[in-house]
Formats: sequence, C-alpha cells, structure tokens
Amino acid sequence: MLTCWVYRQKISESLDAGHALPRTLPNHLQSCRSCRDFYEAGLQINELLASGAGRERVSSPPFLQGKILTALNDSREGPHPGRIRLAWAATAFAVAAVLVGAWFLWHQPPLQPQPQPVVRSGQNPGQAAEWFAAAARLPSEDTLLEWGQKLDQPLETELKSVLHDARKALASLAQNFLPDELSPLP
Ligand SMILES: [Zn+2]
Repeated sequence: MLTCWVYRQKISESLDAGHALPRTLPNHLQSCRSCRDFYEAGLQINELLASGAGRERVSSPPFLQGKILTALNDSREGPHPGRIRLAWAATAFAVAAVLVGAWFLWHQPPLQPQPQPVVRSGQNPGQAAEWFAAAARLPSEDTLLEWGQKLDQPLETELKSVLHDARKALASLAQNFLPDELSPLP
C-alpha cells in the first residue's frame, strides 16, 4: 500500500533521528501489522547498534585529552607564547640597532668646513681646470697641509697677493676678450 510506504519513511526518519513518532503513526501501527513489525524491527536494530557501540568504544591514549585541552586553551588565549617571545626578541633587536646607530652618529666628529683654495684669477685656463678637478676630488693630506699654510700667511701678504692677482686677471681678461684697439694695455 502507498500509505504504508509513506508511514515507513516517517518511521525510519524518526528512528534515525531518535525522535518520537508523528501523532498519526500510532493509529496506523495499531491497525497495520506489517508496519508495526517494521517499526519493532527498527527499534531492535537501534538498540543493538547502541549496545554494540558501547562495546566497540576504544579508550583514547591518556596524553591525548591533555594535549587537545592545551591546544584549545592556547587558541583561546591568543598567539602561542613562543611566537610572543620571538616578536619581543625582534623588537628588542630593532631597538638595540637604532640605539647603536644613534650612538655612532652622536659620537662622530662634527664635519669641519673644508678650507677652499683661493682662486687665483690670473691662473691660465689649464691651471683653473686643474683646480676645479682637484676641488671635485677629496683633498689629499698634502693639499690640506698646503691650504693650511696658505691660510696662515699674514693678512697683508694675502691682500697684496689678491690685488696682484686681480690686476693680472683684469689684464688677462682684457687680453683675451677685448679687441686690440680697446685694450688698455700695450
Ligand atoms: Zn502499514
């Protein structure tokens, strides 16, 4: 019968889920022996499975429970302690590196302004080019010594030298850039 097939589906669903039978089923079970047998067989299978499951239960290794609980507690409390220690170590290293760098910068001698050689305007283009090339490079020890000696010369000598150089520069400029008829020098 079709109604019996429908009722047996409902019996199977109820037994599998462990729920009570729908309200309409007990009436049918009283009147239909076939469905009542189906239901009783299902109940018996369920009881056998439940008792068998108890026998088949295998106890877990004693350490497993503790391990699982520890893992659960760790995940609840946030990052692993080892990871926290590593993060702290990295932070401490970065701070130490910054402090060491700052110490080195602090203890470096202040940059001294480098004495610049006075450009002798009377120098010929070859010498000037040489001077520019020398200025572009870092001065050697000898050059620094020479500059120091020049700077130590008495002011009067230096002024005379500057005036002399200025005259020579003017003469040189006039000679090189002015037409002959405008040149003040013979
Ligand atoms: Zn039936």
